[in-house]
Formats: sequence, C-alpha cells, structure tokens
Amino acid sequence: MSTTTSAPQSTLVWSDWRSQIQHRITTLEGLRQWVNLTPEEEAAVAACADRYQLSITPYYASLMDRDNPNCPVRLQSMPALQELAVFPNSDNDPVGDTIYRKTNRVVHKYPDRVIILVTDLCPVYCRHCTRKYHTSDTEGTYFGDAASAGWDADFAYIESHPEIRDVLLTGGDPLYLSDTRLERIISRLRQIPHVEIVRIGSRCPVFLPQRITPELCAMLEKYHPIWLNTHFNHPKEITPEAAAACDRLLRHGIPVQNQTVLLKGINDSVETMRALLTGLLKIRVRPYYLYHCDNVVGVSHFMTTIEKGQEIMRGLIGFMTGFAVPQYVLTTPLGKIPLWEPQYSPEDGGSVVNYRGERMSLKDFLPPSTIEGNQP
Ligand SMILES: *Cc1c(COP(=O)(O)O)cnc(C)c1O
Ligand code: SF4
Repeated sequence: MSTTTSAPQSTLVWSDWRSQIQHRITTLEGLRQWVNLTPEEEAAVAACADRYQLSITPYYASLMDRDNPNCPVRLQSMPALQELAVFPNSDNDPVGDTIYRKTNRVVHKYPDRVIILVTDLCPVYCRHCTRKYHTSDTEGTYFGDAASAGWDADFAYIESHPEIRDVLLTGGDPLYLSDTRLERIISRLRQIPHVEIVRIGSRCPVFLPQRITPELCAMLEKYHPIWLNTHFNHPKEITPEAAAACDRLLRHGIPVQNQTVLLKGINDSVETMRALLTGLLKIRVRPYYLYHCDNVVGVSHFMTTIEKGQEIMRGLIGFMTGFAVPQYVLTTPLGKIPLWEPQYSPEDGGSVVNYRGERMSLKDFLPPSTIEGNQP
C-alpha cells in the first residue's frame, strides 16, 4: 500500500528559524558544503556518530573558517576524536544534577531556585555541553522513558515549595520549543504566586538568532520579570545577527546575561577573553559567569587548568570595565565554587594586592579593630 517517496527538498529560508532547523547539518556530506575537512575531522565524524549527535544550523556553519580546523566555531560544534578518550574522574553528570532531580524535569540544588529541563533538544549540540549525556548522547537522556510524561508533577513540586522564587528554564535549549509550548509553561509558572522571576537559558542568540522573533519577544514580555542567560564563547560569535537578536530581547525589557565556558584552544587567553567581554558590552549583554569546563565524559579534553583560568582573571580585573568581568566558578555537586577570591589575607595583618600586583596593608588604611587578624 504505502510507497516510499523522498520528502520534497524545501529551500532554506535564511531568516526563518524553522527552516534553519530543517536544514541543520547532521552528516559528513552536509559539513563538506561549509568546510574543507581534515582527515582527522572526517575520522571523528565517523567515530563519534554512534555515540553523540551532530547538529549545526546553517547560520552557525556560516561562521566557520573554511580552511582552519582550529576555528573556534568548528571546535565547538564539530566532532573530535578526543571525545572518545576517558579522563580520570570524569562522569556523565559530574555536577550532580541527577542527585538533585526531584521530578522528571525539576532540579532543586540551591535554596531559593530550581532549574526545569524543559527539553533535551538544541539547534546545535555543543561538543562541550555540561549535560552531554542528556542532550547529545545517542543512548539516552536524563528523561529516560519519561520524556513524554505529563508536567503535573513538575509544576506540583514547585507549587508545594514556597521557598522557590526563581525558576530557570533550561535543557537542552528551551527556545527550541514553539512559542505556544513555551507560553504554556511560562503562563503556568506565573500562576504560582511565590515564583518571582523566570529565567531562560538559551544559546539561540548564538546558534539561531532568527529564533528571537518579535512574536517571541512580545509573548515573553507578557510574563515579566523574565531574564535570559545566553552562552557566547568567542568574539567571532558576536555577529550583527546575534547583536540584533539580543537587542530585540533587551528592547522588550528582557535583560540578557552571558555565561561563557572556559575552553582550551578556543578562548583560554587573556586577549580572546577581553575581546569577547568587551564585544558583549558593545551589544549590551552583561557577562555573568565564566565556567571552568566540567569533567564530563566526552568533554574533558576542553578543560584547561584552574591556574590558567586565574591567570585570565588577573588579566581582566581592574584592566576592564568592572561589569565586563564575569565570576569564575567551578560547578560541583556542592554547588558553584568561586575560583577567584578577593586578594585579602587577614592572617597577614590585612595585606591586600591590587590588580597590578601592588601590595598594601589595610592596617594603615582602616580602623585596626575592623581587621580580623588584628583583633585582640
Ligand atoms: C547554576 C544553577 C542554578 C542557578 O544558579 P545562579 O548562581 O543563581 O545563576 C540553579 N540550579 C542549578 C542546578 C544550577 O546548576
Ligand atoms: S546549547 Fe546548552 S544545552 Fe545545548 S548543547 Fe550547548 S551547552 Fe548543551
């Protein structure tokens, strides 16, 4: 009865986010249209295919350098053989999301806020994803068999915990959902009086700026206060399209903040980080976190040393606009651990160091009784 017909090949409409997703690159042949692959990259695409999904929007692929395999856009989105290496202490979930999962989708780790894993889909799968097992692994997700389960238990959990005042939609990329589905989730959250703010974590401004439509912004605006955290990792990603997407969000009253992951060979230099952070200020996006890369299975090769991260922080603090400087943290099952602390040692008579490495004693600057190490 049924005959097999190949789906009609629609043409890519660059400005249409659904068309970008329809035409996402998932194969070696698809990649070859955008870049000249090295033999190593070809081998990696084949070797990783059974293990991790590959997806790149044409928009993000258009930012790739055709000939340079060290292009930061290529490195973030194209498979690499190192993904199959297993590093000491690596884990599918080193940050402990699954320990704190209270329902199918709700992770409650910090006192006053939760995340909801609204999806496991993303327009582009970052090779360095912290939830790589959830988003990109061909074998599973945190959802297991329960992906299609209803949302009642998730909302009921938030409803029955009045201490939750901040709900962060994440995944996966929440903006992969249609406006209708998103609105269903957000409007339901807005029926819970103790939920004061709703945050969205999305890499669409970077991967798929076409997704930030006027309609989406107008819908979100109805449910203020809404905040959006995005994820630029390299100055190359700050394009006119990305800037316009952030501008649309901002004009609808949605503050846009950025969470960068410190990635070896991609942004682990003072120069690149300064260019990224000043670039973000120019598009009115406020740097928030600099995450030390997590020791996730398939991701560990992107880790650099904490010492390197601290060296970068030393190259930022004091040399740049104060709010250009993100907080450098490592996520652990115990929470986010600041890896950058004020340079103050009470046991050393209140000795402090400024950003140029110059030292002074607070003993000569503040009332001695206010310096811990100096108390009787
Ligand atoms: C990072 C994170 C949050 C949000 O933390 P903030 O420091 O408020 O941005 C909430 N829940 C989980 C599980 C997180 O990892
Ligand atoms: S967009 Fe976020 S959730 Fe999706 S793959 Fe990248 S880091 Fe993971």
